[in-house]
Parts: sequence; C-alpha cells; structure tokens
Amino acid sequence: MSSIQVFKPFYRTEEVLSEIRQCLEKSWTGIGYKTIEFEESWKEYSGFKYCHFLNSATSGLHLAFKIFKDAYGWKDDDQVITTSLTFVSTNHAILYEKLCPVFADVDSSLCLDPKSVERMITEKTKAVIYVGIGGNAANYDQIKQICERYNLILILDAAHMSGTRSRITGEHIGLDSDCTVFSYQAVKNCPISDAGSICFKDESFDKAARSLSWLGIDKSTYSRFSDQSYKWRYNVENLGYKYHGNSIMAAIGLVSLKYLEADNARRREIAAMYSDSLSNFKGIEVISHDPNIVSSRHLFQIAVENRDSLIENLTTNSIYCGVHYIDNTSYPLYKHFNSDLNVSKYYSDRLLSLPLHLHLSDSDVKKIVQSIQSAVVNNPV
Ligand SMILES: *Cc1c(COP(=O)(O)O)cnc(C)c1O
Repeated sequence: MSSIQVFKPFYRTEEVLSEIRQCLEKSWTGIGYKTIEFEESWKEYSGFKYCHFLNSATSGLHLAFKIFKDAYGWKDDDQVITTSLTFVSTNHAILYEKLCPVFADVDSSLCLDPKSVERMITEKTKAVIYVGIGGNAANYDQIKQICERYNLILILDAAHMSGTRSRITGEHIGLDSDCTVFSYQAVKNCPISDAGSICFKDESFDKAARSLSWLGIDKSTYSRFSDQSYKWRYNVENLGYKYHGNSIMAAIGLVSLKYLEADNARRREIAAMYSDSLSNFKGIEVISHDPNIVSSRHLFQIAVENRDSLIENLTTNSIYCGVHYIDNTSYPLYKHFNSDLNVSKYYSDRLLSLPLHLHLSDSDVKKIVQSIQSAVVNNPV
C-alpha cells in the first residue's frame, strides 16, 4: 500500500524544465532575468506594489527586522509582539536583530488574539509580527488597527498565505501591512524548492532590501555613468547578506505561480471534504478559517485530546500527519521568554495537520477521514 505524506510538492515537470532551459541557454542563472520576471508576475498577481525575490522567507523576515530597526533607530531589546505557535523562523528573525520577542496568546483560530496583543504592549514595543497560519487571516484587521492605534510596525509572516484574499474586496491580504514576507519553500502552497519574497509598502525599504540581500552592494550610485567603462563599478555602504534569489528558482516559481489559483482552489476543495466529515465528529475540533477570506489553505488542522496516539495509529495505516506547531517557548532557546500562553499551549499539545497537497485524490481523502474517525472512536479520551 502506498503511503500518504502530509505534504508532497507538485511540479509541472515539463513546463518547469522549459523555463529552466531558457536560463541555461541564455547562460543566466543568477539574479536578474527570471528573478525580475517573477517579481513582476508576483506583483501583478498579488497587487503588492513592491516585491523582492529572495532565497527564503527566513532571509526576508530577517531583512524586515534589520531594515526597520536601522530606519527607525530601534534599540537592542526593543520588543516585538509575536506568536509562539509558528515555525521558529518567525522568532529567530527577531533574535537575529537582538530584539526581544514578546509572546502574545492566540485564540481558537490559532492566530494572534487581539486582546492578548494589546495587553503585551509596553513603552518598548516597536512592532507586531502576525502569522497567517495555514493560510488563515483571522483577526488580521483587528491586529492592523491595534498597530495603527499604538503606532507599531506590522510585519506579516505570510509563509502560508500565497493567494489568501479577502472575500469582500477580493484583494490579497497584507497589502496594508508595512512588510509582508512569503515563503516558496518546497512544502508551501506555492512551491519553488527554496525561495521567498519580501513585499514592502514603502519604496525606500524595497530599495534597502535589494541592496542588503546582495551584500550591501549599491549599483545605483554609478548608474549615472551609462558609459560602458563604468559598468563594473559599484558602492558598498552597508554590511549586507547573500539573501537574494536566483533565476533557476524563479523559473520554477513562474510555473507554480501560473497555477497557484487553481491549486489553492483544489486545496480548498480537499479542506471542505475534511470539514464536512470531521466538523461534527465527537472528539475532533476542526480549526476553521475566517469566513471573510478565501484561504490559500496551506494547512487543514484539527485538535484532538490523544494527538500523539492518533499520529501513531495513522502511521500504522501509512498516513503521515504533521504538527504545526509546538509552542516555541517549550524550546530551550525560547524558554526564558515564557509568558501566559494558555491557548497556545493547549493547541500545542493537541494540533494535527492532515495531509493536504495536489497529489491527493478524493479517495485518498476518504481513506484518511475513515482512518481518523475509527482511530478516534476506538481511542476515546
Ligand atoms: C516555512 C515558514 C517560514 C520560513 O520559510 P523559508 O522559506 O523556509 O525560510 C517562516 N514562517 C513560517 C510560518 C513558515 O511556515
């Protein structure tokens, strides 16, 4: 019997190869060419005004904190309100810049609880980072309002949110954030193997990101020398990083982006099948997404009392699930940032992500549902 993975990236091999072939034949595999094409396509698709293609979302999150810290003169230990129910990249990025993560609690949507966020605000608070877990955008508007009221920068970790839109306006979520960071890592819903992008609201920050993602190199100073003899010359003003994306990755991305709407629609179809069968099932809590959004549906999550034994049970049926996420303050690195996180900790012990990807057939979904239902019935709390 073939096994069912929680994630399995889906690539249109021939189309991807033909995009990559163009890079190889042009002898242009680095920054420029396809990376520019991807940035333009992403802006057109999403409506973000600026987009810079990177080697990962982790790099993007780091750049966001670095650029805002430099621009606004934030000090070491200034505070960023964040969630502990996320991939550690979100919080590592805060630590990279010697800022202090302050963990607010989530609610039953697994997104930041606005009331908890507001309670955590102090004199030292400079920013809030919101994670749209699984493609959800619950409470996003309220968090945005809090940021406006307290004059805080809002960074959106949109690693799961490629294509998440408002059902009301049709606009991509995050256009009003100060900075939105996407991941195109292989198991995300817009897969490119390894890549990300950073979308600033402000042009000067987009410029800063372009320089800092390429070791701090700034070519614009010399652009006035259109003279061929100065083409090799550039300036280095800042200690930058090697974070920019390349044309091979962008070539893969152009194909993933072309099919993103259709792929997300299929993800929603699978999520609806899960929801229909599991929502009213005793012992299972389905994590639902904000009804006012059209979710990218990167994840379908449930909460159960006997999570670990359910995982074991499903594994014996060759069904592999995931957990997104374990409360980050349970890791040694984040232990001393511990705070009152009753809801986050509750879900950290109970969450389970069901298989959700483009290789799943309807009958796979039925099989998964049946396995979960019989495991929960046979193993009551
Ligand atoms: C995957 C992920 C990231 C990091 O993305 P990379 O592109 O792998 O660096 C950041 N935040 C969240 C919530 C993620 O799931």
